[in-house]
Amino acid sequence: MKNNNDRREPGPGADNTRPAAPGPGPKAGLVPVQRGGLPVLIFPHLAVHDDLQHAVTTREGGVSRPPHHSLNLSRSGDDSPAAVTENRRRLQNALASGRLVFSRQVHGTTVAALKQSIAADDDLPVGTADAMVTDCPGRLLTILVADCQAVMMFDPQRRVVANIHSGWRGSIANVIGATVAVMQQDFGCRPGDIWAAVGPSLGPCCAEFKNYRDEIPPAMWSYRVSTYHFNFWALSRDQLTAAGLAPDRIRLGRICTRCHPERFFSYRAGHKTGRFAAVIGMRPK
Ligand SMILES: [Zn+2]
Repeated sequence: MKNNNDRREPGPGADNTRPAAPGPGPKAGLVPVQRGGLPVLIFPHLAVHDDLQHAVTTREGGVSRPPHHSLNLSRSGDDSPAAVTENRRRLQNALASGRLVFSRQVHGTTVAALKQSIAADDDLPVGTADAMVTDCPGRLLTILVADCQAVMMFDPQRRVVANIHSGWRGSIANVIGATVAVMQQDFGCRPGDIWAAVGPSLGPCCAEFKNYRDEIPPAMWSYRVSTYHFNFWALSRDQLTAAGLAPDRIRLGRICTRCHPERFFSYRAGHKTGRFAAVIGMRPK
């Protein structure tokens, strides 16, 4: 059964006013904590699993200078490579054990299934992928975003984690469904066992698509909350439940990055900006 509490249909009252930003409220799924001296956010429903570690970073606690201030974790912009290296070291330190794993994100639907054990040497090349899945403890799957959604998943039965980069292109292509399919086919997961969390990202208040008739398929126009605004959080939740996840195992962070540019990197708030991270992985044994 789908929970449609936050899916507002654009009925006769739909207009082009900007929908209200979601308030923190009891449904807010993210809790601020300190990890290794770094301010991060965690989802309580994931934090209860002792052998799992995860975190969502903010833009605080790093060394990058404006416009990448301060905890920019991406090398794709023109930030100082030394600053990004130090910022990544701080994130690595906050997670205490395991190694950060990055992919080349291109707004596609390629899912990297990472089954080999951690090597002792440096960087683990994943290549181009907008989702990663692994059953190897110690691999910390890292997705970088600035308005796009990071969708973290954990199956405690099969002991499998996944992390997805789903911007609006990924939402349209259903990279979420593609990732759950890989978890089932390659790792033997049952969707009903999987927990999921959608990180800070563009909310219905700010997901404005003036050219939506050209950019977004009509089948998804039901997610419009005004003439030009879409609720991609609701779409992701529905894609997760359509893939077989139980609604009560899904949490939406409900924090809009565009509404909080002082706290998160937001592409729509300033195109020259950094990227924050969502990280998930099982602790090494
Ligand atoms: Zn907003």
